[in-house]
Amino acid sequence: MERTFAIIKPDAVASRKAGQILARIEAAGFTVRAMRLQHLTKKEAEGFYAVHRERPFFGGLTDFMSSGPCILLALEKQDAIKAWRTTMGATDPAKADAGTLRKDFGTSIERNATHGSDAPETAAFELGYFFRGMELI
Ligand code: ATP
Ligand code: MG
Repeated sequence: MERTFAIIKPDAVASRKAGQILARIEAAGFTVRAMRLQHLTKKEAEGFYAVHRERPFFGGLTDFMSSGPCILLALEKQDAIKAWRTTMGATDPAKADAGTLRKDFGTSIERNATHGSDAPETAAFELGYFFRGMELI
């Protein structure tokens, strides 16, 4: 079993798609191991996306991610990191495969409904950034 870190981003929470996305997460075979609704501050969003600090979209991305509450999740499944990336689809909803979450709920390359860790090291960092050890037992 593997764990990954996921976010239902502020666009999807604001448009009341969180319930549908959670249903799709469960239908895809993930177990929710931790979950919290949280409105990130700009600083918290900047710390989370620090790897993208030098990118031109960093300011807009962190404004968006701190624009309203999001849902933070620890998801468990066999090969969870890869499986969750597949369930989400491509970063740009316009290029995402049919049946993926970003295709169905994303509205732009920035406002793309969900986040997922991209490797074991990032999953470990991101789970630890948002959840305390006790929440992940
Ligand atoms: P995430 O890390 O959120 O799961 P990802 O790994 O598919 O997404 P990254 O390259 O890590 O994509 O980009 C992080 C986030 O930054 C994207 O999910 C998207 O919200 C935003 N983003 C990426 N590229 C652009 C861009 N060209 N313009 C605006 N926003 C972008
Ligand atoms: Mg990424």
